Amino acid sequence: MAGTNLKCRECATTYELEPRYVCEQCFGPLEVAYDHSRFVDDVGALRRRIQGGPQNIWRYGDFLPLDGPPGPALRSASRVGLPAGCTPLLRADRLAERVGLGEVWVKNDAHNPTHSFKDRVVAVASQRARELGFDTLACASTGNLANAVAAQAAALGLPSYVFIPSDLEEQKILATGVYGTNLVKVRGNYDDVNRLCTELSGEREGWAFVNVNMRPYYAEGSKTLSYEIAEQLGWATPDRVVAPIASGSLFTKIAKGFEEWLELGLIEGSVPTMNGAQAVGCSPVAQAFDAGADVCRPVKPDTIAKSLAIGNPADGPYALELARRTGGAIDAVDDDEIRAGIRLLAETTGIFTETAGGVTTATLAKLAARGDIGADEKVVIVITGDGLKTLDAVRDTFESYEIEPRLEAFEAAVEQGVHV
Ligand SMILES: *Cc1c(COP(=O)(O)O)cnc(C)c1O
Ligand SMILES: [Zn+2]
Repeated sequence: MAGTNLKCRECATTYELEPRYVCEQCFGPLEVAYDHSRFVDDVGALRRRIQGGPQNIWRYGDFLPLDGPPGPALRSASRVGLPAGCTPLLRADRLAERVGLGEVWVKNDAHNPTHSFKDRVVAVASQRARELGFDTLACASTGNLANAVAAQAAALGLPSYVFIPSDLEEQKILATGVYGTNLVKVRGNYDDVNRLCTELSGEREGWAFVNVNMRPYYAEGSKTLSYEIAEQLGWATPDRVVAPIASGSLFTKIAKGFEEWLELGLIEGSVPTMNGAQAVGCSPVAQAFDAGADVCRPVKPDTIAKSLAIGNPADGPYALELARRTGGAIDAVDDDEIRAGIRLLAETTGIFTETAGGVTTATLAKLAARGDIGADEKVVIVITGDGLKTLDAVRDTFESYEIEPRLEAFEAAVEQGVHV
């Protein structure tokens, strides 16, 4: 086992690596703790061991809370599940130029089996769930988690229950139901869905709610994003990371991944400046950042960025602390800026992202315009999901020609600038 125990983030009480997510002493959240001291003597060997691993997140098995990663991908899908990770990191010079920056990289996590970064967290949570003897996967989802849990359960041959707000984007509902899951639409927002699932997880023995009772294991999956970024940058950290915030788990775990590897001396550099991105219509963390507060006041979400629509973010205080400690910030962009962000990324990189990626790209543009980013900084933006999942966000944002199938018709239309 690579982890040693679960540890309370508030009072440091420790627990076995069991299906538990909240501290019995103080109700604080639990996090996986590790002992990496055995690696300190030979970092070169560890680096080679990682490089020799599979082309997916299991290459980082020494840093994940599993008895053993599921083994080579050649094994049957029902054992290995859907492998996630090893997504592209692309240098985006045209994007950098458009926003007036020197060096921008795009970590494109839409390149996962169900087209969002959620495949990473679900892969880790579901493997741990199997090790702990659970027989059913479940989740409370803002959309992408539903896709990832339903697909992972199908690959592993486990039954699943997926709970979503009933007003979710149609693309995300269709791309979940297709896997044969039990799809439960709840009349309410994500925070209502989450409350229901928290109650249910106490009732249903054998059910692993990946982001409720399995949350400490789930959260560790996000660290693999920073491991990959560091490896892809030649075993070094970037100067700055811009990433979206829903519950704040992804944002804080990206930093934890860099911190673990810096501490071991596995990579060069220092903890990046961390910039969080939210939608104005659901910005409890950005509002608390602005107010200088240490905790977030819950809000009622109203934004096209539904995948980020968590009004009561569990890791909000840790996200605030991280942004302040690293000299970063947490900003919010409105729905028009989100649509423009999607177009900006698409037009300059060929990458079509969902609304969450629009939030991230628009936040990069905002930081650049504000002069917050130095000319020689190496900036990574984390694109967490695919544009085909939120097509409504780009509907009517561009024009096209419609013509009869004749040469003159085309030429006349172009000449007159006739669009439909
Ligand atoms: C879930 C999600 C996030 C971030 O979620 P956290 O709860 O903050 O970890 C970001 N982008 C997309 C597309 C997501 O689905
Ligand atoms: Zn505690």
